[in-house]
Amino acid sequence: MSPRHETLHDARSTRSAAPAQIRRKPQPRDADVIIIGAGAAGIAAARNLRRHGVDSLILEARDRPGGRAQTIALAGQAVDIGAHWLHAADANALVRQAKRLGLRLSEAAQEPLLIARTGERADPQSYVAFMRRWESVYDAMIAHPGSGPARAADTVFSQIDDTPSRFDDTIRFLHGPFDSGVGLDTIDASDFAAAVDDADLFVEGGYGALILRLARGLAIHYETPVTSIDWSGAGVRVETPRGTLSARAVLVTAPLPLLQSEAIRFAPHLPLETLQAIHALRPALYEHVVLSWADHPFTDAVNRLVAFEGDARDNLGMLANIDGAHLHYADIAAQIVAACPDPRDRAGYVREFLGARFGSRALARCDVLAASDWAGDPWTGCAWMYAPVGAHGARAALREPVGERIHFAGEASSATQWGTIGGAWDEGERAADLIRAGLTAPVGGAVIQAA
Ligand SMILES: Cc1cc2nc3c(=O)[nH]c(=O)nc-3n(C[C@H](O)[C@H](O)[C@H](O)COP(=O)(O)OP(=O)(O)OC[C@H]3O[C@@H](n4cnc5c(N)ncnc54)[C@H](O)[C@@H]3O)c2cc1C
Repeated sequence: MSPRHETLHDARSTRSAAPAQIRRKPQPRDADVIIIGAGAAGIAAARNLRRHGVDSLILEARDRPGGRAQTIALAGQAVDIGAHWLHAADANALVRQAKRLGLRLSEAAQEPLLIARTGERADPQSYVAFMRRWESVYDAMIAHPGSGPARAADTVFSQIDDTPSRFDDTIRFLHGPFDSGVGLDTIDASDFAAAVDDADLFVEGGYGALILRLARGLAIHYETPVTSIDWSGAGVRVETPRGTLSARAVLVTAPLPLLQSEAIRFAPHLPLETLQAIHALRPALYEHVVLSWADHPFTDAVNRLVAFEGDARDNLGMLANIDGAHLHYADIAAQIVAACPDPRDRAGYVREFLGARFGSRALARCDVLAASDWAGDPWTGCAWMYAPVGAHGARAALREPVGERIHFAGEASSATQWGTIGGAWDEGERAADLIRAGLTAPVGGAVIQAA
């Protein structure tokens, strides 16, 4: 049975409207602070500034807030087509926000189901061996002190005492493409070790819906892509197809691929250190394929991670029975995403993989409902940004403001929660604090008070 291509959700469908439509919308106005992007970082910053009475305006390229957090309806169920897991629950500000709003949070099981190469669940002895090895590899990876020459996370395999295991490539896949969107042979060991890792939660109604709710009441101009930032004079002048706006400071939260391709240009050019930081981090690739699978083999598992014993790259990970329904994520990452640039090919890859593991008859009532395409999305271009070997310091460099009026924030500038909504949110808060301090700092002997 072929995938139902026509029902695939393509994130690219959210591209901005034609200029003629844009002209009919109300003109955005000048503001003390302009925020570029209404994703988690931009929303957190705008809420912070509003809380402190600072006049700010978000300019968003799409026709919706949330960025890489988006919940869509599929088969009557709310499904996140971007971020879904509330990672690092103790540190994650969105957990506190969800609780404040009275939303139900459920805990994600930390131990995956392991499917052997035969398609059967791994026998208990193999499962114990797999879990032991997984934990010892992980412990060694996070124990990396961050000193000495930069090295790839994968080097840890040659340093642990245990003898190599038949599960090593499966573990490489789980910590690499599945967790990080890139192979462990590429990612900086310090970047991996710096990431906070504790319990993961899911939120009732979807992560995207939570972020959408937190954007309510903020001053956001949609379908207003920023094309350039002029900081040659005092303050900044921000250019959009709907006019040029002035502000005293700008916060850029657009994903780094947009800055790398100069979709947003700066005049004069950004300083070398900032440009180096922007270009040092690289796009990690990770995409969801959402399945409706009536007679799936994960019957007793709700919101359960499924791992497949197999290859370090040519593999996938699943989240079975999302919220107890017959919908499942089959997630592909890194080279497999790059090799399948069309979402339909990603859907085909998933069916082929599952068919090879469980037999084609097992897929008789398995339909692909949606496949994300954040890699091909014009306002994203990645799932998140990873630090290649030697580039871990770029995240800190991004946090340095330019000319005291250009600030950057987003998942990429977070050292401890990079690649996550929680990290983007904290970064938005941090940048807003810094901007507020700058607005009230003495300039030429006078104190300029924020509105
Ligand atoms: C498939 C997938 C699964 C993921 N899973 C998880 C998960 O389970 N848990 C988790 O925590 N994280 C997950 N992530 C990562 C998470 O989604 C991101 O880290 C987070 O959403 C980034 O927030 P941000 O504010 O930094 O950027 P974005 O959310 O990308 O926000 C930036 C905004 O800027 C806008 N923009 C871009 N260019 C312009 C321009 N020129 N002018 C105006 N606006 C512009 C964009 O439209 C966007 O709205 C996942 C990501 C993907 C793609």
